[in-house]
Amino acid sequence: MVSIKEAQSIILEQTAALPCQELPLLQGLGRIICGEVRSGWDIPLSDNSAMDGYAFSYASLQGDRLAVAGFIPAGTARSEAVPAGAAVRIMTGAPVPPGCDTVVPIEEAQEDGTGIRLTHRVQLGSHIRRRGEDVRSGDCVVQDRALIRPQEIGMLASLGMTSVQVYQRARVAILATGDELLPLGGTPAPGKIVNSNSISLAAQVLDAGAEPVFSGIAPDDFEATKRTIRKALLAGDLLITTGGVSVGDKDFVKEAIRELGGEILFWKVDMKPGKPVAFAVLDGKPVFALPGNPVAAMVGFEQFVRPALLKMMGQQRLFRPMVKAYAKEPFSNKGERPHLVRAVVALEDGIYRVSPVGNQSSANLLSLIESNALLKLAPGALLSAGDLTEVTLLDRGFEMGEGGS
Ligand code: AMP
Ligand code: MG
Repeated sequence: MVSIKEAQSIILEQTAALPCQELPLLQGLGRIICGEVRSGWDIPLSDNSAMDGYAFSYASLQGDRLAVAGFIPAGTARSEAVPAGAAVRIMTGAPVPPGCDTVVPIEEAQEDGTGIRLTHRVQLGSHIRRRGEDVRSGDCVVQDRALIRPQEIGMLASLGMTSVQVYQRARVAILATGDELLPLGGTPAPGKIVNSNSISLAAQVLDAGAEPVFSGIAPDDFEATKRTIRKALLAGDLLITTGGVSVGDKDFVKEAIRELGGEILFWKVDMKPGKPVAFAVLDGKPVFALPGNPVAAMVGFEQFVRPALLKMMGQQRLFRPMVKAYAKEPFSNKGERPHLVRAVVALEDGIYRVSPVGNQSSANLLSLIESNALLKLAPGALLSAGDLTEVTLLDRGFEMGEGGS
């Protein structure tokens, strides 16, 4: 048996970033950029007006009056010099014309029939955005492996790019095991349940930014398990199985992986829920054998599969954010394994407060619906109401006033 941390480091040692691909710019949203991006030119490209106003030469200003000798709307550039003692009306973003070094905003000038009168004190060089003030040609504007957000998209577009290199999405084959399982849409009967794990795991895969591939249900039969694992592995960059990895008479997954030539790097993690989880490498691909119990499968995904997927897709931050929260009520771990307690974190007057959900059974999906966080409690640990503790946030819905669900 390994600890959660040991299991995570074994997994991350065995996973590497996938190759990169080129995408149309907007499709890069939410992906990780492959390689840094440097600007090919200065931004702004030339000195330009920061305001709708008047441009003129500060040195030629005598008194507070100026003649108006033209108009430069946005989208145009004037190459002809502005005569000394005169101003041009200029719109925001238009290049400052030759002969001008100062802009006053429209609000600080009064126009009459013959020109303008400046109503405020003027400073040399005011209201001009300088060439290269934001970015110099050659500057790095987007770091390698940055998450592409709307602002990165905007920056790349302003550099004239129409496509972007990103890390590929991981394809994740999902194989359920168990004679009791009915396909999606099936009606449960005594002894039969719907294969809900494949779909909840697929949702977690999507949520992590990867692509699920459904590889069906393997019956509880050794040869069939081997055959379906081999086939499923071909469809993905990695494989998740669920069920059949405990000590039951028909738990064949581990043995099947071994017979197919896979190396089991660990089996059983010191945690609750989700102890019977195995990790293997088969044909150079990571294989995660998660438990069958719905909560154990999803918590196993959170702890082990998600960080690996994020690493494969180029991310640098592999783990969920942790925050400090005050316990709202006492709770303890009377068991022998570290307990990942399903909990609700609420933001009350800017302070995080946490309470465990009532039912902590590893089969009870409702407990995950009620929770939005996991709190790790060591064996024997006791939290009293008011104690400050660290929790891992699974989602941030509560910040929008949605409670835990
Ligand atoms: P196992 O680990 O195969 O013994 O399964 C443990 C428990 O999880 C059993 O009650 C199964 O019925 C349930 N289970 C296994 N696979 C799934 C699945 N794909 N969807 C929902 N429940 C499952
Ligand atoms: Mg089973």
